[in-house]
Amino acid sequence: MERIVYLDGEFIKETEAKVSIFDRGFLFGDAVYEVTAVINGKLVDNEGHMIRLQRSCSELQIALPATLEQITAIQKKLIEVNQLNEGGIYLQVSRGSAGDRDFGYPENVTPTLVLFTQARNLLNSPKAVKGMKVITTEDIRWKRRDIKTVGLLAPCMAKQGALDKQVDDAWLIEDGYITEGSSNNAYIVTNDGVLITRPLSNDILHGITRKALLELAEQAQIQVEERPFTAEEAYQADEAFVSSATTFVWPVVEIDGKTIGTGKPGSVATKLRDIYIELATQNAE
Ligand code: PMP
Repeated sequence: MERIVYLDGEFIKETEAKVSIFDRGFLFGDAVYEVTAVINGKLVDNEGHMIRLQRSCSELQIALPATLEQITAIQKKLIEVNQLNEGGIYLQVSRGSAGDRDFGYPENVTPTLVLFTQARNLLNSPKAVKGMKVITTEDIRWKRRDIKTVGLLAPCMAKQGALDKQVDDAWLIEDGYITEGSSNNAYIVTNDGVLITRPLSNDILHGITRKALLELAEQAQIQVEERPFTAEEAYQADEAFVSSATTFVWPVVEIDGKTIGTGKPGSVATKLRDIYIELATQNAE
């Protein structure tokens, strides 16, 4: 079925949505994005995504072309017109088109706002049941990973490198420590039950799911340590997992060919996934 997408004020067929070749998102990757999960036709944790969108835009001096309330209304309309029950909504704001190519930020351009829906099976994902296999690879990304830009070629290369090796994803390493996954935050659980994940900085994306999970972990009396960890520490861990808006929590059962824990999804990952989904579904709007 052809989707209805949103482009600059219009709800139109996906095949009719056209953006200029001078759009800076296309020429420079000068654009930011967000992905919000949809369960039962409702937005999950969307407020956090909207706040991060605003921050990404402000770091790059991109003026949001609509208020956050207007954007949320567009998201809801897209869910309705596409009859989306489960999946995600992709949202992108680029600086817009100045009708030519120059590096400096142009004045008086209108940012381009694009949104589209993606139907996906989120709750009954096979990866949640079986767990994923990952490899580690060097983190070759830029130094402002806290800004959610569409400049995603390095993560695409990392992901494809993993797929070429018949595994599911890559964990990125910088100065000997894991930063995060190609499109998710990374966690391990030590043999004495401590949940470890890298602290927030410009080195990683400040995951909306990560924030929610750390709060849930504290409530569930799981000890949390926000500190960098190495691949060697991860190999020895009892559990490993990743989080993101559309995966929620996916266990990691193998890293660099080494089995993690029992080789099955661990109890902490499973518990956090379950309580996150329960709460997210309740609070979805
Ligand atoms: N890190 C990276 C590099 C990501 O691309 C993502 C997903 N966009 C995340 C972490 C997870 O963030 P969130 O939970 O907000 O989806």
